[in-house]
Amino acid sequence: MDFEYTQEQKQLRKSIREFAEAEIRPHVMEWDESQHFPLDVFRALGRLGVLGAIFPEELGGSGYSYVDYTILTEEIARIDPSIALSVAAHVSLCSNHIYLAGDPSQRARYLPKFASGEWIGCWSLTEPEAGSDAGGTRTSAIHDGDFWILNGGKTFTTNAHVADVCVAMALTDRAASHHGISAFILEKGTAGFRVGKKENKLGMRCSPTGEVLFTDCRLPASQLCGKQGEGFVDSLRILDGGRISIAALAVGIAQGAYEAALKYSKHRKQFGRFISEFQAIQNKLADMATEIDAARLLTLRAAWLKDNGRSVNKESAMAKLYSSEAAVRAANEALQIHGGYGFIKDYPVEKFYRDVKLCTIGEGTSEIQRLVIARQLLKTHDGAGGPE
Ligand SMILES: Cc1cc2nc3c(=O)[nH]c(=O)nc-3n(C[C@H](O)[C@H](O)[C@H](O)COP(=O)(O)OP(=O)(O)OC[C@H]3O[C@@H](n4cnc5c(N)ncnc54)[C@H](O)[C@@H]3O)c2cc1C
Repeated sequence: MDFEYTQEQKQLRKSIREFAEAEIRPHVMEWDESQHFPLDVFRALGRLGVLGAIFPEELGGSGYSYVDYTILTEEIARIDPSIALSVAAHVSLCSNHIYLAGDPSQRARYLPKFASGEWIGCWSLTEPEAGSDAGGTRTSAIHDGDFWILNGGKTFTTNAHVADVCVAMALTDRAASHHGISAFILEKGTAGFRVGKKENKLGMRCSPTGEVLFTDCRLPASQLCGKQGEGFVDSLRILDGGRISIAALAVGIAQGAYEAALKYSKHRKQFGRFISEFQAIQNKLADMATEIDAARLLTLRAAWLKDNGRSVNKESAMAKLYSSEAAVRAANEALQIHGGYGFIKDYPVEKFYRDVKLCTIGEGTSEIQRLVIARQLLKTHDGAGGPE
C-alpha cells in the first residue's frame, strides 16, 4: 500500500493551486455577490487540462486518472467551490455521459470541444417531481420517423445558462419503467430547447443553476446518446463516478475552511493570548484535521478503485456521504473559530459555510447515499464485515 502522491501528482496540485490563487481567489466574493460565471477563467481551466481531465488524449483530454482528478477538484474547491461544481458538472456528468455511452462520432464531435472549454456542457436528470426518485422522469421523447420529439422540463441543472450542450434524460417507454428512460444530446439553438428560470441560491452562486425546457423539440435520431431505454441505468453509472468529484469538492472546501481557521486562530488575541492557545480551539482544529484526512482517504480509495476498473458504487457513496458531512462540520467550526468575524463577508469562511451545504444534496442527498451503501451491505455481506 502506497500513500505517496507521485511527482506528477504533486506538480499537478502545485500548478492548479497556483492558478486558483492567482486567477480565482481575488474575484471570489465579487463573482459570488453578482452571481457571475467567469467564462474566461473556465476556458483557462480548459487550457490547463482540467476540463478534459479524465478523457484520453486522442479525444483532446488530459488522460488523467480519477486520483489526479480528485487532486485538481480539491484545489479548485479550496479557493472557490462554485467553480469546482461547474467543472464537475461539465466533466464528470455531461462529458462523461457522452464518453461512456455515446457512439464514436458523438465522442469525436463533443469531447475535444468540451476538453478545450470551447463548448460548455450541462447534464439534466432532475425534474421538479423527480429528484431523489430520478426514475420518476416525466419529460417525454416520442419517436417520429428519423426524429425524437421532446416535451417537458428539467430543474436544478448546473451550467444550464452557460451551456452549449445539454445531455438530458427523457422517457421513451412509459411501460418499461427504469429501462424506459433514454439520454439525448441537445445543442444550444435547437428549436424548442431553451433555458428557463435561473435560481437565486444560498451558495455556489457563481455556478449557474436552472431550468432546461423542451417544447416540441425535434431532435434527429442521431442525438440519442447510448442505447434507447438505458439512459437511467447509464446515469447511475455516471453518478458513481460523479460522486467521487463531489467528495473531492467537499474535501477541498473543508481544507480551505480549516486553513482559514488555523491562520485566524494564530492571529486573533483574546484574554491576552492567541485563541489557538485555548484547548477548546485546539480540539476543534484537531477534529477538523482528522476528519479531513479521513474524508480524503475515503475519496482517494474510491478514485483508486475506479482507476483500477473496480466497482465503486458503495465506495463512492461512502466517500461522498462522509466527505460532505465532515465538510459541513468543518465549515461550521471554522466559522465558530472566527467568532463574529466569521459571520462577515470579509472572511472566506462565511462563503464556505454557505457553499458547503450543496455537497450533502447534489448528486444524491446524504439519505440517498446511505440507501446506496446499505443496499450493497445487505447484498454482499453475511454480517461478519471487514475486509477479506
Ligand atoms: C445547486 C444545485 C445543483 C444541482 N445540479 C444538478 C445537475 O447538474 N443535474 C441534475 O440532474 N440535478 C442537479 N441538482 C439536483 C440534485 O441532484 C437534487 O436536488 C437532489 O438529487 C435531491 O432531489 P430534490 O431536491 O428533489 O429533493 P427530494 O428528492 O424531494 O428530497 C427531499 C428530502 O427527502 C429525502 N428523501 C427523498 N427520498 C428519500 C428516501 N427514499 N429515503 C430517505 N430520504 C429520502 C431527501 O434526502 C431530502 O432530505 C442540483 C441541485 C442543486 C441544489
